[in-house]
Amino acid sequence: MKAAFFREHGGPEKITYGDFPTPEPGPGEVIVRVKACALNHLDIWVLGGIPGLPPSLPHILGNEIAGDVAEVGGGVKGIAPGDRVLVDPSYSCGVCEFCLRGETNLCVEYKIVGAGLHGGFAQYCKVPARNIHPIPEGMSYEEIAATPLVFQTAWHMLTARTQLKAGEDVLVQAGGSGTGTAAIQIAKLLGARVFTTAGTDEKCEKARELGADEAINYKKKDFSQEVKRLTGGRGVDIIFESVGADVWEGCLKSLARQGRLVTCGCTSGPIVQNDIRYLYMKNISIMGSTMGTKEDILTLLKLFGQGKLKPVIDRTFPLEEAGKALEAMMGRSFFGKLVLTV
Ligand code: ZN
Repeated sequence: MKAAFFREHGGPEKITYGDFPTPEPGPGEVIVRVKACALNHLDIWVLGGIPGLPPSLPHILGNEIAGDVAEVGGGVKGIAPGDRVLVDPSYSCGVCEFCLRGETNLCVEYKIVGAGLHGGFAQYCKVPARNIHPIPEGMSYEEIAATPLVFQTAWHMLTARTQLKAGEDVLVQAGGSGTGTAAIQIAKLLGARVFTTAGTDEKCEKARELGADEAINYKKKDFSQEVKRLTGGRGVDIIFESVGADVWEGCLKSLARQGRLVTCGCTSGPIVQNDIRYLYMKNISIMGSTMGTKEDILTLLKLFGQGKLKPVIDRTFPLEEAGKALEAMMGRSFFGKLVLTV
């Protein structure tokens, strides 16, 4: 098969488009003929090399995959060649303490398709049958491929972790990012007032169109002062965070009493300083979150089918241009998702 893969760590220039062995299904596995695969910052990190990821080289990136079932392995039930499917990027073992509790994102053998396993920058991809879901009616491969990682991440952060309540104020950092565009919509759907940040006026406008009540151009204004001004000095109840170092202190200043900061990433750097006086004086909680559970994906698929949440695609690239697409991802001049078509 054709694939976009890399043999050594580095930047997008390390991506090669060429022949790669076509996967074959083992028991309980499914081969998907990939039609679309969205990009994530995780691709950049895995390409650059993070401890233990990928497990071996050469490696195929790509976490968010949609396509047709091509082949099923032994023991697979309810899935047949030709089915239009979405791949849940969360691999979990199904039998550990956390899986048995339903907290599949905390599985002791947790892996993400495209990071711990080969991903969808290829014509074919092998995944466990329990990661396969039918595509909601009316959605294209590109649309559904733009959702599973970012929406499950954002949903889990705002529901299971922060337990957002209707009427609360939420600040979504990086409102133009994949998780940001998901979080704006989810927070609105759950009844919050939504503030967001973005680096251009154009992105701020798009964030408002997506439902944000206020969008702050952080390059023109100090976001924490703006949040204070817009909330009459009170601050926000929840901060949805994926930026890290550049915004951390401003986030602590922007939280109201009993505020919750939930983080799923650190695109500007992972090392931050915490002035713990903010934490104890305001009773602030800082919480981490990673990906989402099987239950989250099932809920989201219903909401997509009902048209209550929608994918946000900036542009698509053919698989052959995977390296170019990764460069665009690093440049950050996009709103929502970049998607490869295969
Ligand atoms: Zn497990």
